[in-house]
Amino acid sequence: MFKKVAGTKDILPDEVYVWQKIEEISRAIFTTYNYQEIRPPIIEEAALFDRSLGEFSEVVQKQMFLIKNADEVYALRPEGTASIVRAYIENNLDKTTGFMKLYYLGPMFRLERPQKGRLRQFHHVGVEAIGSAGPDIDVEVVVLADALLKAYSIENYEIRINSLGCANDKAVLVKILKEGLKPKLSSLCEDCNARFKHNVLRILDCKHEGCRKVVGGLNISDSHLCDDCQGHFDKVRKGLDSLKVAYKVLPHLVRGLDYYTRTVFEINHPGLGSQDALGAGGRYDNLVSQLGGPQLGAIGFAFGVERLLLAMAAKENSAGAGPSIYLIPLGEQAVPFAVETLAFLRSHHCAADMNYEGRSLKGAMRTATNLSCRFVGIIGDNEINKGVIALKRMDTGEQKEVKKEELLEEVKKNVKNS
Ligand code: AMP
Repeated sequence: MFKKVAGTKDILPDEVYVWQKIEEISRAIFTTYNYQEIRPPIIEEAALFDRSLGEFSEVVQKQMFLIKNADEVYALRPEGTASIVRAYIENNLDKTTGFMKLYYLGPMFRLERPQKGRLRQFHHVGVEAIGSAGPDIDVEVVVLADALLKAYSIENYEIRINSLGCANDKAVLVKILKEGLKPKLSSLCEDCNARFKHNVLRILDCKHEGCRKVVGGLNISDSHLCDDCQGHFDKVRKGLDSLKVAYKVLPHLVRGLDYYTRTVFEINHPGLGSQDALGAGGRYDNLVSQLGGPQLGAIGFAFGVERLLLAMAAKENSAGAGPSIYLIPLGEQAVPFAVETLAFLRSHHCAADMNYEGRSLKGAMRTATNLSCRFVGIIGDNEINKGVIALKRMDTGEQKEVKKEELLEEVKKNVKNS
């Protein structure tokens, strides 16, 4: 028997409801903030990610799903930003539209060691605002992330922000870190020793106990920031304060991808264990030009949907997701009337289904309960003779005889969206 690939998940019909809920809420909030959907392909040239995420980033070094075909190497996208920037440039959106606020939803792929909250195929819901270098859009993007979490009813998360500064400032930060870490290399893990050469920032978020101790002892501040970048960061914080968004400045917070500059942020949730980031993002002011476009400021973030689901306080169930009414014909002679009634209800956009399996009344009632139907419509000999349906409310048990047209009215009156 075949099994699913490790680190992937089947999202079965009884779970899909929460996924749809997340998508629905996200789209509604994105619309409120005037972000438009973009759907780039799932495969890209692998070089796009080498170039943008950085050749020495963890994702490029170890986690890419590569597909080789003759001389070409493709990758299943490990994240959305690079693809979206590629699409923005390739479709001349910089020339035709200029500043754009985009959102996306979809699967991402990383060849990681699977564990709770860490999959090989996972899903992002994210945004990219491309074309503005000013701090106001940083504020909007963080506020948007906060608004989404509130709308998903997730609580107790923490927004952590920092500024990496411009490319020059980042180089200064790297130098400061290298000087501080050099005498302590023997206390760092093997991976961090490798990171020391090419990706020293990443050492700051190593989970290894020994490395955390060393990093904790470093004196990291915002001293690497130039005046412009310091000014930008001050305005971002002021903006968030004025909108009463709670956040924490964390000088140790860095992002492991090369393209980040200035504002970076991460949102964490204590209920998630070791993989506690619900989402993360930041500014990438040089990426558009690096990929062949003009020099444009940009910022974005992505939430991991699987982690949102883990953090959702009250686990949603599929209540209300099933049909509004479930028809139960008792005996073969009742089936044609049930089929006709079903077609009538559906043609009036009433979500309805019927028992096709000839189950007993008790068994069919159980199905209706499992489907979370608001009503059942029972059709036996007595009902056929009278040309009515016995309509029973599942919550109160109340039952009455109704004609087909009344049935529609009654269901519509009691069930939203039926
Ligand atoms: P990143 O692009 O690594 O900053 O990821 C953004 C968010 O995606 C993270 O904060 C997680 O919520 C989620 N995420 C990243 N990698 C994985 C993974 N392998 N499995 C599940 N979720 C992930």
